[in-house]
Amino acid sequence: MVLKGVKTLISRADIAEMFVVFTRVNGVPGARGIGCVLVPGGIKGLTAKASFHTMGGEYLSEVIFDEVELPLENLVIRDNGMKRLLSAFNTQRCLNPAICLGLAEGALEQAVRYMRERSAFGQKIGDFQGMRWKVADMYIEIEAARGLLYRAAVSGDPFPDPTLAAMAKIYTNEMSIRVTSEAIQVHGGYGFTDEFAVSRFFRGTRYGSLGGGTTETLRNLVGKKLVEELDLATGCFGMGTF
Ligand SMILES: Cc1cc2nc3c(=O)[nH]c(=O)nc-3n(C[C@H](O)[C@H](O)[C@H](O)COP(=O)(O)OP(=O)(O)OC[C@H]3O[C@@H](n4cnc5c(N)ncnc54)[C@H](O)[C@@H]3O)c2cc1C
Repeated sequence: MVLKGVKTLISRADIAEMFVVFTRVNGVPGARGIGCVLVPGGIKGLTAKASFHTMGGEYLSEVIFDEVELPLENLVIRDNGMKRLLSAFNTQRCLNPAICLGLAEGALEQAVRYMRERSAFGQKIGDFQGMRWKVADMYIEIEAARGLLYRAAVSGDPFPDPTLAAMAKIYTNEMSIRVTSEAIQVHGGYGFTDEFAVSRFFRGTRYGSLGGGTTETLRNLVGKKLVEELDLATGCFGMGTF
């Protein structure tokens, strides 16, 4: 069996010891023709270059499969792999927002700490109502995201429900951008510098809505489900796990 092709923007490819590659098998068209093959790192014909430096501080790689020869036993899914990939991928669609949730929580903690320490115009900035409302809104958004995300996670059987995972990912990804940005605002000009962790949290969380299914394509999924499957007799609650 020979594997040919290129996949770009891959995390950790430069250190991976095994690649799980979804690829077209024997030229069979459509989603039905997608299978899965295991490719050991370091095999002849495989190059993984850490080529793209990201605003999050890490690198994304381009992986090139140049006539990689593999034993047939490495073909672990022969056909219809796309459906199985997407089903299992709903786990990643909960993991990605879990990272964003953590970054948002960290940003809120840093904001509260700074509000207690920093004084302006003769008082702690944490005494200003405008600042208190900011952290209140940040906390509300974090808890709303947590609720969605935990609900998606407990739907796992074994993989999370696709619609719940998509909704949790969209909301948490976008929430964390807003919350980490507000944490920078709380820090004033210093928030824009590398002196405080919040600027790193903001840069770090920006990847969320891009990797693992973009927020746009996931909105397509949720919208399709609603328009095509919502049972108006049972309403939204009929669609979820609870
Ligand atoms: C930090 C990070 C880590 C990653 N790690 C991996 C990895 O480990 N493995 C891996 O395989 N990939 C990985 N990726 C790649 C990632 O999955 C892709 O970047 C992502 O799927 C988007 O594809 P694209 O970059 O080609 O964007 P494009 O497809 O070019 O999209 C560009 C824009 O068009 C929008 N768009 C595209 N199609 C539609 C549509 N049908 N409807 C509405 N809007 C649409 C997108 O939402 C986006 O806003 C990673 C990316 C990042 C940023």
